[in-house]
Amino acid sequence: MDKKTYEERKRKGMCIFCKNKAEEGYTTCSKCRERRKRTYHARLKNGYCVRCGEKMTDQKHASCFACRMKRAERRYVKKQLLNQSAT
Ligand SMILES: [Zn+2]
Ligand SMILES: [Zn+2]
Repeated sequence: MDKKTYEERKRKGMCIFCKNKAEEGYTTCSKCRERRKRTYHARLKNGYCVRCGEKMTDQKHASCFACRMKRAERRYVKKQLLNQSAT
């Protein structure tokens, strides 16, 4: 999903996944939230990455190495941007 679709659905109070009415204070409907929660826990329990669904060899984390790297990278970029605007 692109950012435009996401923003538009969010603004209209629609679920970003299925276009149903989103729950108050959320960007998703209760059905999608429930489904995501179930997926998350099922993956966690079975040793799959909760983000991309890849089977993991290392079960110390909830997400795989690639996803953790991606997240770290995004955090790093954000930090750099913040530093830039501060100076
Ligand atoms: Zn939904
Ligand atoms: Zn992953």
